[in-house]
Amino acid sequence: MTVDRKVRVAVVGAGPAGVYAADILTKTEGLDVTVDILDRDPTPFGLIRYGVAPDHPRIKEIIKALKRVMANDDIRFFGNVNFGTDIKLEDLKGFYDAVVFATGARRDRDLQIPGVDLDGSYGAADFVYWYDGHPDAPREWDFQPHAKQVAVLGVGNVGLDVARILAKTADELLVTEIPDNVYEGLKKNVTTDVHVFARRGPAQVKFTPMELRELSHSPTIDVVVHPEGYEFDHGSMEALAAAKSQKLVVKVLGDYLAKEPSGAPHRIHIHFCQNPVEILGEDGKVVGLRTEITELDGTGNVRGTGQFKDWPVQAVYRAIGYYSDNLPGLPFDANTGVLPNDGGHVLDIDGTPIEGVYATGWIKRGPVGLIGHTKSDAAQTIKMLVEDLPKLPAPEVSEREAFDRHLDSRGVEYTTWEGWERLDAHEESLGANDAHPRERKKVVPRDEMVSIARG
Ligand code: NAP
Repeated sequence: MTVDRKVRVAVVGAGPAGVYAADILTKTEGLDVTVDILDRDPTPFGLIRYGVAPDHPRIKEIIKALKRVMANDDIRFFGNVNFGTDIKLEDLKGFYDAVVFATGARRDRDLQIPGVDLDGSYGAADFVYWYDGHPDAPREWDFQPHAKQVAVLGVGNVGLDVARILAKTADELLVTEIPDNVYEGLKKNVTTDVHVFARRGPAQVKFTPMELRELSHSPTIDVVVHPEGYEFDHGSMEALAAAKSQKLVVKVLGDYLAKEPSGAPHRIHIHFCQNPVEILGEDGKVVGLRTEITELDGTGNVRGTGQFKDWPVQAVYRAIGYYSDNLPGLPFDANTGVLPNDGGHVLDIDGTPIEGVYATGWIKRGPVGLIGHTKSDAAQTIKMLVEDLPKLPAPEVSEREAFDRHLDSRGVEYTTWEGWERLDAHEESLGANDAHPRERKKVVPRDEMVSIARG
């Protein structure tokens, strides 16, 4: 027993990081705790619903485990609640002993090169939001009508997702949960060649082996690895010796390199040692990408060669990493895009912990790592929280339902776990009754989601 009162904790963010934190808390031995998880989306599961690509149902299976966690009566869900406008930190402190921020990262990291604002230059996160049917994304994606050659910058798994969705046909994706507007939008995509650019070599890509291998599973796609820049320095050899998964990635790349294209209608090209330096435009539209050819410097990093190459592409997708939103009323480290923290406590600008305020997941350590990694992250944060509990003041209001009344009094149209179950069933029935029956079809407009969830 760490404290002799019933403890109440708010978790802001209902993605895997927040749900794992709630799970670990409620399983803490000797602790009598209830947890409320808030999210600005009307639905739970964060990037699993609005980040994982629709043709990756295997990853979405994680939702089943998260559902089991949420079925615990000691955990409640409040969706459609926007931290900063509907509720502030001071409000939460009045109802909860501690607040854990698990707000993740949903924006594109800035790429500061000329031409980035041209028509046809897109952030990958925006595209992902669109094809995943996020309510705040525009309903239509403005595919450039002549964009047959398209560039994707960055060789992480988001770059792979974007390249794959651009290279697949709309009909191939019709077996997934994509909403109608996304299917209709994808039909306007005329891309035949997606060029994915790595600024370093093959041993430095951030792909994971399974996701890379799976690229070739579509009958409409040939994967073409180009030999220029396909090189390994001493740092590369060390990296491959240290990490089995990186070795596997390079093995898959090598297989693609050796393979003759089958003549499929779409190609995903992977180019190494090409650092994007400018997006070229004409009449405000993308007409090309300029890269500087780089060479490995012995450590696995690269230096520029002073030689440049222009690629005739009509659209550029920047998949160079996510960036977190600054949370109102909290400090923010703009360099790394995280809440300043010591591994769990959120730190004020003078480096002292802010009493009762914690961080976990991507807002704590930056947008890297797979979903499972957020579990160990949450364990570290919750351990700190539980150790602090005896010295944390009890909140002014301890009654559980007082928070619901507070939201009601502010006119916040929050959704609940039962509401999510209604929406979940509704989406499943939309899928089952579609002209192309499938497991689910997503509802997109926020007001429609909220009204279904609120019955
Ligand atoms: P990421 O893995 O960090 O990859 C970012 C890529 O962008 C790197 O190749 C990086 O190259 C490159 N980059 C960064 N700045 C650049 C610049 N200025 N110019 C050119 N290239 C630049 O990020 P992510 O793809 O957004 O993925 C985030 C996390 O989500 C990862 O852990 C990923 O595995 C995970 N995820 C998983 C899946 C899945 O299906 N399993 C799907 C999506 C995301 P350098 O290495 O040279 O910096």
